[in-house]
Amino acid sequence: MLFDNFPRIKLMDCETPLQRLYNYGSFTGLDTLYIKRDDFMELGMGGNKIRSLEFWLGEAKKEGCDVVLVAGLPPSNLCRLTAAACARLSLECHIIHNASPDLHSSVKTGNPLLNSLLGAKIIYCGDVDEYKRHDFTVDYKKELEKEGKKPYIVGDPVLGAMGYVCAAHELVSQCEREHIDLKHIFLSASAGPTETGFLFGLCMAAQNIKLHLVSVEYDRVFFLSIMEDIFTKLSQSLNVLPSLKPSDVIVFHDEYLGEGYGKPTSQSIQSVKNLAMNEGIFIETTYNAKVFAALEDLAFKGDIGKDEAVCIYHTGGTAALFGQGEYFKQQ
Ligand SMILES: *Cc1c(COP(=O)(O)O)cnc(C)c1O
Repeated sequence: MLFDNFPRIKLMDCETPLQRLYNYGSFTGLDTLYIKRDDFMELGMGGNKIRSLEFWLGEAKKEGCDVVLVAGLPPSNLCRLTAAACARLSLECHIIHNASPDLHSSVKTGNPLLNSLLGAKIIYCGDVDEYKRHDFTVDYKKELEKEGKKPYIVGDPVLGAMGYVCAAHELVSQCEREHIDLKHIFLSASAGPTETGFLFGLCMAAQNIKLHLVSVEYDRVFFLSIMEDIFTKLSQSLNVLPSLKPSDVIVFHDEYLGEGYGKPTSQSIQSVKNLAMNEGIFIETTYNAKVFAALEDLAFKGDIGKDEAVCIYHTGGTAALFGQGEYFKQQ
């Protein structure tokens, strides 16, 4: 089968729910709106990185590693979910934050709080960019090796993407079972693995579905070049050439990015509230809120047909919302 050559550790007990949004659907004027709940998983409060960790930690276990290294900013969902998966698998987890330790606030919240509860070791490499953080992480790994440890760094984009090839197949089969003729899927576009894996799975499934990627980080040219690179490598690793091309499937939106990664827009802040007030479902501001803002705008403008079935992909990360209260102060 597709993933036979890739060791995988199961971290999810079942499919994530595909749920109809009746109230938010009427709010946006869409007759059939669904949400795919990857925020709804049993481990570590869930989120998209769990699907990638099945492959990353599968490789770590196969290589006989005993320490897992993960790098990110303090609010990172990847760091929290890696720590949670390591807790379950009895692996040591070291988190490298490109930040300085916050000596002023003694009360932790959001993902940093969860990281400490999960027992991960936290290392700060100072306020540097992600490239310097990567160099630091590689040096740190060498230090551990000198001590006789076997460390593994999570994050390989091609392995990570495999988790979302599976997610696309899961969603397509849910739609088939429930006789949903999906026309549009909305998903955030950030570092690439999640989106490319999902795209790859959709291209394999060869259905008439548009994948709307809403940028929360990079511009079109840069993002599409990352995606093309991961797509090609994925195709080689899996030895599959999907029947559809990415350009048959993708609609890329960078007009909802605002001032950049992590910076909310007034519409995205409003979308957090719209979803909460209509459905009792929470999203954070870095990723999902901008996707909901895009959906609202396109639906209001009539760019999405009222009678076309739409699914918005909730990638999780809700724990980060507790560190985003400042954006709602005046509200
Ligand atoms: C990391 C993350 C994403 C983006 O995934 P990438 O594969 O890094 O692009 C989207 N949503 C949430 C909640 C995340 O934590």
